Amino acid sequence: MAEKDHKFSNGNNTVPLIIAGPCSAESEEQLRDICAQLRDLDIPITRAGVWKPRSRPRNFEGAGVEALKWIKNISSEFHQQFAIEVATPEHVEAGLKHGIEIFWIGARTSVNPFAVQEIADALKGVEASVMVKNPINPDLSLWRGAIERVQQAGIKEVAAIHRGFSSFQESKFRNPPAWQIPIELKSMMPDIPLICDPSHIGGSRSMIYDISQKALDLNYDGLMIETHPRPDEALSDAEQQITPLQLSEVMSQLKIRDEKSDNEAFLNQLEDLREKIDQADREIVEAIAARMRIVDRIGEYKKENNVTIFQLERWKEILETRPQWAKALLLNENFIQELYKIIHSESIKSQTDIMNRSTADPK
Ligand code: PEP
Ligand code: MN
Repeated sequence: MAEKDHKFSNGNNTVPLIIAGPCSAESEEQLRDICAQLRDLDIPITRAGVWKPRSRPRNFEGAGVEALKWIKNISSEFHQQFAIEVATPEHVEAGLKHGIEIFWIGARTSVNPFAVQEIADALKGVEASVMVKNPINPDLSLWRGAIERVQQAGIKEVAAIHRGFSSFQESKFRNPPAWQIPIELKSMMPDIPLICDPSHIGGSRSMIYDISQKALDLNYDGLMIETHPRPDEALSDAEQQITPLQLSEVMSQLKIRDEKSDNEAFLNQLEDLREKIDQADREIVEAIAARMRIVDRIGEYKKENNVTIFQLERWKEILETRPQWAKALLLNENFIQELYKIIHSESIKSQTDIMNRSTADPK
């Protein structure tokens, strides 16, 4: 958990940081309206997109510097901090000139190390806080690298925003979350606060609560939720924005879990169950080792008989039967299928080594 006076942490494990505000700053009235309502909800940071990265031209691309002037007026009027997206050094400079101290790097920018480096260079020596959204593709190193570039520029308050990843596959999500990637990021960079953006992950109002709850269950540090005074009229991302009233309902329904518990009975029970998990894992590893020994014997046998390693019919049979066994045991079929893909690829690797080993080589 981040230190106490970090902008991206409430310094309290039990309360997530909430950042809310419209996808785009559309007019001074819209911003004033939303900012006043968010201040009443004690939301510490208002987000607003000033330059919008739209896929196709001639869509609303943000109000630009005009919006920065509105933000400057409103933030001094309401004593409210604003966060904006920056994609170029010019955006950073314009933001700083208008008193903005919190920036985020969007998913289409964090994908490009040149662009991130230029932004980082523009932030050198600046007292600012920066959030780095995950790149649009599920590439953990790229995300981590973007965070490191910002850190190297001397920015102390850096957070990561998980907004999901583009996918060609049919999905109920606008950007499927691939939760294991932010979890891995958190284990690599435990001091970087992790913020979930359920709006861009889900792409629809009805999904905000469930995604937010899941993030809190995974011990995220905060949420960034797109909030608009009149979501249906929003000039960008209308389907996923909620009203401040809906935001307050989501907030009041979220269950906040403790990171740890001091309860003796709970700790004892946990230790007990973890011992059982250790035992089960040992059995899994031993079973895999036994399986690999058989795989190697088959490899030798195929070699002696000059038969190919990959046998399509056999692989199809494995891919069909194992998920069926899983289903009968109430396991997720897809999970077991994915597991077998990994096991099968390791088996092929091992048999390839055997096949390529010269007979003169020691085994
Ligand atoms: C946004 O926050 O409005 C935005 C454009 O997000 P992303 O970079 O995640 O697509
Ligand atoms: Mn948006």
